[in-house]
This record gives sequence, C-alpha cells and structure tokens, in this order.
Amino acid sequence: MKPAAFDYIVADSIDAAAATLAQAGGAAKIIAGGQSLVPMLNFRLLRPGILVDINHIAGLSGVKDGNGSIVVGALTRHFQLETSAIIARHLPGLSHAMTHVAHLAIRNRGTIGGSLAHADPAAELPMMALLLDAELHIVSAKGSRTVAARDFFLDALTVDLAEDEIITEIVLPKLPAGTTWGFEEVARRSGDFALAAVATTLTLSDGVVDQVRIAMAGVGPAPRRVGEAESLLVGRRLDDKAASEAAAAVREDASPETDLHASAEYRRHLVGVLAERALAAAWRRATEDA
Ligand SMILES: Cc1cc2nc3c(=O)[nH]c(=O)nc-3n(C[C@H](O)[C@H](O)[C@H](O)COP(=O)(O)OP(=O)(O)OC[C@H]3O[C@@H](n4cnc5c(N)ncnc54)[C@H](O)[C@@H]3O)c2cc1C
Repeated sequence: MKPAAFDYIVADSIDAAAATLAQAGGAAKIIAGGQSLVPMLNFRLLRPGILVDINHIAGLSGVKDGNGSIVVGALTRHFQLETSAIIARHLPGLSHAMTHVAHLAIRNRGTIGGSLAHADPAAELPMMALLLDAELHIVSAKGSRTVAARDFFLDALTVDLAEDEIITEIVLPKLPAGTTWGFEEVARRSGDFALAAVATTLTLSDGVVDQVRIAMAGVGPAPRRVGEAESLLVGRRLDDKAASEAAAAVREDASPETDLHASAEYRRHLVGVLAERALAAAWRRATEDA
C-alpha cells in the first residue's frame, strides 16, 4: 500500500520543528530514519497530516564524551553508535548490542531517538537505555525536560512523550572502572527482532558482585530491569547456583505472550537461559581480565 497524503516540512532547527509540532495540534509526526514510521504509513496504521523531517537539523547527531557521561544526539544513526570509538571504550556492551539491531542498511538510516520513541517491545536500544540508566532530553515549544529511561517506557509502542515533543539527546552515565558486560539474544534469523534478549553489566569488589544490572526485552510489552535478580546476586560470587537463581527470577518476572514467532512458554524458558549466559559472560570478562 501507499501512505495517505501528507504535507512534508523540512525543519532546519529544533525550535522550528517544535513550533510546527505545536501548531499542528497532534496532526504532525516527526520523521527521522523512517525505518519504523514509513512501514506504518504504508500500511496506513498512521495517517499524519504533516511529516516534520528532522534530518537536516545541525547538532542533533553525534556521540560526545562528557564529564562522567556520554551524550548521544537523537539523530545519531544506529551504525554510528555501533562504530563509535567513545562507545567502544566506555560502553562496549552497547557497541555489541547494536550489531543485533536489524540489518546494516537499516542501521545506516535508523536513529537512536527514533528507536527509543518507537519503543518496539523487542528492540535492543530501549533495553540498553534501561540497563545503562540513560536519561532522555526532550524539547517542545513549551520548554524542555529530562526523563529517566526507567520512567520513559510505559507499554508496547507507548512512551512518556507527547505529540509535540522531540527527543534531542540521550545521556548515558559512564560505568564504574572494571565493569564488564554480557549480551545474549535469540532471533529467528539474523537481523530479525529478538524473540528474547538479555543484557547485563557487572562490577566486582574483592571477587564478589558489587553491582549488577540485568535488563530484558521481547518478553513483555516493554523492556524491564529485573531488580529481584540483581539484588540476590550482590555480595556473592557469580557461580552456577547464583546464576541459576537469578535466571529463575528473570523467568518469573517475564510476561511474554504467544505470537506467530514463538509461544509464551518458549520465550519464558529462553529468557532464563539467556540471562544465565549473559551473566556468565560478564563474570568471565570480569575474572579473566582481573
Ligand atoms: C526490517 C526491519 C527490521 C528491524 N529490526 C530491528 C531490530 O532487530 N531491532 C531494533 O531495535 N529495531 C529494528 N528495526 C527498527 C529500526 O531500528 C528503526 O530504525 C527504529 O526503530 C526507528 O528509528 P528511525 O530513526 O528510523 O525512526 P522513524 O521511523 O523515523 O520514527 C519512528 C517513530 O519515532 C518518532 N521519532 C523519531 N525521531 C524522534 C525524535 N527525535 N523525537 C521524538 N520522536 C521521534 C517518529 O515520529 C515515529 O513515531 C527494524 C526495522 C525494519 C524495517
């Protein structure tokens, strides 16, 4: 199918884009990489009267090493994040996660802001934003605000973002020195959305877990941090017993549904296996590098 007719406006600044969105009163949609929006337009799942193209706004793209954090412009392409030397140095788990996002051609166009705003339940970036305690900077004609990733993802394809708001940048706090990572995903084919995915970070102190984070995607309407699994690991060595207890908590916390790709039971089992593997990988990196 073809999209319903729309007006097309190229914004040359954040203020201009925000003004257009405000005037449109809900009839306008931002287009960034177009990788999720255009299919929805073509299927006529969305019929915005106006598309506001933000691709030509200067300064909305790029990865910067800030004080204690990394700042990623919302228009940064997936491939830029994947290949960023700053991300590789400070958040190597994120560099790796990006290789699982769709195919290279899509990663070449798709943007960080678009992925977070779209919030597919199985998308890697929302899960990584949650894992990494990201903050999103959001601008509208009324002003600006900052929202933590943990408050942003509300439900499937539903986020804390009004129709007239623009994500401008994502701030990723740096992790404590020596923090390692694990990332595990199963998709039916390379480049497909995950059937389930798990990402972890791990910081040790005196050979036991000091801080651990576990996030999952594809097994519920929105990505989740698994607080119970995180707490039960603190102060312990991450041996098989500890990893298996954490995996049980992950399975318990998942709320997968059956769809044409996999049953809920399979997804629940899978996410536990992936959690054990991701934790084991983070432990291996921590203890082999020590
Ligand atoms: C075949 C295929 C496979 C895919 N596989 C995966 C996968 O495995 N994992 C994965 O994570 N993704 C996958 N994707 C989605 C892809 O990552 C998209 O690029 C991404 O979800 C959307 O980014 P975009 O820049 O293209 O956004 P667009 O499509 O331009 O926009 C998406 C939504 O975000 C809004 N938006 C965009 N930018 C902003 C902003 N700065 N502020 C506020 N709202 C904004 C738009 O209005 C729209 O509602 C796949 C896509 C395709 C077509």
